[in-house]
Amino acid sequence: MRLLVTGGAGYVGSVSARILLAAGHEVTVLDDLSRGHREAIPEGAELIECNLLDLPKLTESLGGGFDGVLHCAAFALVGESVTQPELYWRNNITGSLNLLDAMRANGVKRLVFSSTCACYGEPEVVPIAEDCPTRPVNPYGESKLAVDRMISAEAAAHDLGAISLRYFNVAGASGPCGEDHEPETHLIPNILRAAQGLLPHVSIFGTDYPTPDGTAVRDYIHVEDLANAHLLALEQTVQGSHKILNLGNGNGFSVREVIEAARRVTGLEIPVVEAPRREGDPPMLVAASAKIRAELGWEAKRPELDTMISDAWAFAQSHPSGYHSHS
Ligand code: UDP
Repeated sequence: MRLLVTGGAGYVGSVSARILLAAGHEVTVLDDLSRGHREAIPEGAELIECNLLDLPKLTESLGGGFDGVLHCAAFALVGESVTQPELYWRNNITGSLNLLDAMRANGVKRLVFSSTCACYGEPEVVPIAEDCPTRPVNPYGESKLAVDRMISAEAAAHDLGAISLRYFNVAGASGPCGEDHEPETHLIPNILRAAQGLLPHVSIFGTDYPTPDGTAVRDYIHVEDLANAHLLALEQTVQGSHKILNLGNGNGFSVREVIEAARRVTGLEIPVVEAPRREGDPPMLVAASAKIRAELGWEAKRPELDTMISDAWAFAQSHPSGYHSHS
């Protein structure tokens, strides 16, 4: 298929573009490079530099006879969404509306969307199934949920075939493509920065959660397993239907367990400081992953936490200050 990947210069988008190319698809990346990295775009993918808010250029860009779109472009920092919600309404919601307009104008009928478990907020029941009530607790989650709803209506009204994948915690790297955010707020990259001496220590945000060791529990999924789910989803959209599927392994690891795994993988003593809870962090987020396994035939090839950390470690060592240290 001829596919457009929005946000293909970002972490998930670049790895997904790599996997789509390896599966024999033709890939064009559409990215404004505001948060992504030119160096992350895989060889063989063409780049269109375009912001989703530029509707005329976006509509023209979608005109090349595309079979489908993988929509990863978004702002994705929870804390920033609380202090600057307007960025999230405009970029994530208006940007996605423009994308649907541009797809409709060009007759592109296949869409896979990067959604998030943040749509569920602080669920009462874990593991989280797709019928869990959606009650986001920050504008980031609200913006993704709004787009999920927009896509459902678009599929019903205009015969779009769409699948939203609600990601849990993405981790690891894929060859030359890895995680490079500035500022970095995620646990595993920060642990590895502390291991490299680039941070004096890693903070454990909250040690009084109602979990076995008092630290928050998350469901980590290898970015290549995540990317494979996008490939399967793009192949299996059905016109007029919008499916929402959770994408996680169904296994929870606490912050302390992740730090122990990183010590094991790196062989380094990683300095740790206990700190108060980070605002808005739920105690436990673990996916019920039966639906995606049944509906897409997806299965994880790298479910072990140590594999995710060791792949992230290889990327961190070859890119000590992110992509810029490499270009
Ligand atoms: N966390 C932490 N120290 C850090 C970064 C994160 O203790 O430096 C915790 C965070 O509070 C959460 C978990 O690790 O409970 C995963 O956080 P991350 O930001 O990686 O992903 P999130 O679950 O927030 O999307």
